[in-house]
Amino acid sequence: MADEHEVMEVDVLFVGGGLASLSGAVHLSNLIKKHNQEVSEKGEGEAIEEPMIAVLEKGPYVGAHNMSGAVLNPVALKELVPDFEDRDCPLEAEVVDDEVVYLTKAGGRLKAPFTPPPLNNHGHYVVSLSRFTEWLGNLAEEAEINIFPEFAGTEILYDGDKVVGVRTGDKGIDAQGEKKGNYEQGIDLVSKVTVFGEGPRGSLTKQLKAKMNLDGPNPQTYVVGVKEVWEVPEGRIEPGKVIHTMGYPHGFNQYGGGFIYGMKNNHVSIGLLTGLDYSDPYQDPHREFQKFKDHPYLKKIIEGGKMVQYGAKTAPVGGYWALPKLTVDGGMIIGDSAGFFVSQKIKGLHAAMKSGMLAAEAILEGMKKNDFSQGTLAPYEQAVKDSYAGQEMYKCRNFHQAFHNGLVRAMISAGFQYILGGKILKDRLPAEPDFSFQKTVAEVYGSASPSEEQKGNIKFDGETTFDKETDVYHSGATHEEQQPPHLRILDLNICYGECTEKYQNPCTRFCPAAVYEMVTDEETGKREMRLNFSNCLHCKTCDVKDPFENINWVPPEGGGGPKYSMV
Ligand SMILES: Cc1cc2nc3c(=O)[nH]c(=O)nc-3n(C[C@H](O)[C@H](O)[C@H](O)COP(=O)(O)OP(=O)(O)OC[C@H]3O[C@@H](n4cnc5c(N)ncnc54)[C@H](O)[C@@H]3O)c2cc1C
Ligand code: SF4
Repeated sequence: MADEHEVMEVDVLFVGGGLASLSGAVHLSNLIKKHNQEVSEKGEGEAIEEPMIAVLEKGPYVGAHNMSGAVLNPVALKELVPDFEDRDCPLEAEVVDDEVVYLTKAGGRLKAPFTPPPLNNHGHYVVSLSRFTEWLGNLAEEAEINIFPEFAGTEILYDGDKVVGVRTGDKGIDAQGEKKGNYEQGIDLVSKVTVFGEGPRGSLTKQLKAKMNLDGPNPQTYVVGVKEVWEVPEGRIEPGKVIHTMGYPHGFNQYGGGFIYGMKNNHVSIGLLTGLDYSDPYQDPHREFQKFKDHPYLKKIIEGGKMVQYGAKTAPVGGYWALPKLTVDGGMIIGDSAGFFVSQKIKGLHAAMKSGMLAAEAILEGMKKNDFSQGTLAPYEQAVKDSYAGQEMYKCRNFHQAFHNGLVRAMISAGFQYILGGKILKDRLPAEPDFSFQKTVAEVYGSASPSEEQKGNIKFDGETTFDKETDVYHSGATHEEQQPPHLRILDLNICYGECTEKYQNPCTRFCPAAVYEMVTDEETGKREMRLNFSNCLHCKTCDVKDPFENINWVPPEGGGGPKYSMV
């Protein structure tokens, strides 16, 4: 049959080449070697034949789509690669100092007299996630794990309700859906067990959760982080200095905050997290980040320097109560795809690594029995909840939900939650999906046409503040232009009708890469949604925040997207 896909059989398939998957793959390889050695030394039990472990990554290389703050708690790294310091691990610096600063709109700042315990990073390291992921990818290759960059998983393969692998996307399809000269059909990677480590709002994980009803008691909720790495004049910030900011540019009702992390060689990582549960249709996380950099406190650090890289990505902040069921027959969910993120500490790296490693331990048991049913994989669920990652999440299980009770109350309850190990606010506080918080322009501004000032718009100076196009250029994002857009708008009539009337098309603002543009044809006067999809940073904000759930993000042709190397 002409359309039959080539089949490649593997034993274990990790979808997504981030820290969660790579840690899982490396740990599994180590566990099998250890098991086989024990069998040969003791002469008991059965050795496991070297399995084929594969990792699919949609980016052009491992690390290209991985963006974070980042301060790494090395607890999982020490377990996975005990000699990491001798193996050229790309650590920027050990944390030397922690500070929490409140920024005022008038340009002032108040330094907190002490660092709240959750934000104490003693013994942690500042890293660039893209570099760190690339390094772990190299260790995985040394362990003979097969990594396939430039391949996106676009469809889950099932046998009944059992996951049996994924299909990769076709390449060489033009915008009209016709095959081009370089057409390459996707392949079916058939696997005994498939591990979904696609990062936040994974496109296949979303399908799996819906098909198998895996959602947790609360819906998952997100922040979007917008960041830049700057090269600054010598002496502006010490490598390993960690500063978290509260206040400006966010108002009291906005969840989120800023970070400033000193890297080596006079580089600094600066970013702003914005909770996607905001209600203002004119909110624009990229613009707010520019305002953040314009604050005198930030300006003093970056003025005279050079912006070297830009990136944006969501992170899941729904916490413990938003964790889905993590296993099905033949399938498991790890890392940000599952929601392993300790929002109170702004940390998901160690949790992603640990979840991948614990998934590997359950897979090893499956290999011993040649059984990858849900029953065999299920111990992973309890193991990860009992681990330090699960326990940290449990301690602050109502942290994000508490913000809807007002910032000050939330800070007080968050502080008490930490000190008392979650003994107050014990019961689950419910949550709503982020898009449901969106209010109409008239509800927020009392008028259907607020002024530019009311909307919060600013002019970018091109020196320390930049428009989205300039920033996107510094992300290296490109896509093959001749392909169907990977942002699937389900009903354009909603964009031109109800969304314009009520919300003035918030996608044109919440997207940190200027992908969505409403243009008016000069001759006909007709408005049209233009998709500059080549700009897309794969942050997934649009998939989360569209008020009508009218945007479905699907992977573009493998190899497209940002080319991160420092963020
Ligand atoms: C702005 C920001 C700041 C943060 N700061 C910190 C911090 O300071 N400390 C900390 O510990 N944590 C921090 N985090 C959280 C941390 O970055 C994440 O928890 C962690 O990176 C999750 O790892 P992961 O492997 O699950 O996902 P990811 O790193 O997102 O990796 C997933 C991979 O899967 C690939 N992929 C996705 N879908 C497919 C598909 N269908 N086919 C093929 N490949 C696919 C992606 O390209 C990507 O490479 C921060 C997050 C953000 C956004
Ligand atoms: S189109 Fe969507 S996923 Fe792409 S950068 Fe914009 S908001 Fe993020």
